[in-house]
Amino acid sequence: MTAVIAIDGPSASGKGTVAARVAAALDMDYLDSGALYRLTALAAQQQSVAWDDEAAVAAIAAQLPVEFVAGQILLQGEDVSVRIRQEEIGMGASQVAKWPAVRAALLQRQRDFARNKGLVADGRDMGSVVFPDAKLKVFLTATAEERARRRALQLHIDLDSEAYAAIVADIKQRDLNDTQRAVAPLKQLPDAHLLDTTELSIENAVKKVLDWYRQ
Ligand code: C5P
Repeated sequence: MTAVIAIDGPSASGKGTVAARVAAALDMDYLDSGALYRLTALAAQQQSVAWDDEAAVAAIAAQLPVEFVAGQILLQGEDVSVRIRQEEIGMGASQVAKWPAVRAALLQRQRDFARNKGLVADGRDMGSVVFPDAKLKVFLTATAEERARRRALQLHIDLDSEAYAAIVADIKQRDLNDTQRAVAPLKQLPDAHLLDTTELSIENAVKKVLDWYRQ
């Protein structure tokens, strides 16, 4: 298998941005594993399959007609890059992600991304389950308040508002879901480098990962 950099961390920690930039700097492929869970949730919704129907959702995950082309995510040929980022689909993703059969159905598909050039993969279980032999493992995090602040800035939401308080609550709830679930919970592995970006710019976070990789 080719060299893999596994970057795991909680929601809205900025790991996707850092992972994509590291991949570009090293001319490696990039896997956004969360997108596969989001696509599974969207495909289930489109086929009127309930997110709590483990067997039916796993069958959808196993057959997912998805293509990643030039920055676009196509589901059955339709560009769903924006649609899968919606809050509703994010909630669906975290619901389908708790089913062992769904995770098993997506496992090989994720490993297949490590076929050609090196791979930078981000998610919750990249270092623990999908790529346990990764050359470098990073646990990228920031405080819930800082992650909420960044998301609020993106959405032009005032930090004194109720909307901001709702974002903080949502992020804390997702942290709880991701760390407390029975299968593949998010955790900091003993062999992962901790990258706390609460007071670190994206540029410096990318630099840190590149330094660790080149060591
Ligand atoms: O990273 P992102 O927020 O796009 O992931 C969507 C959902 O998919 C998360 O809430 C998480 O529960 C789940 N997920 C997962 N394992 C991964 C990536 C994402 O369980 N490797």
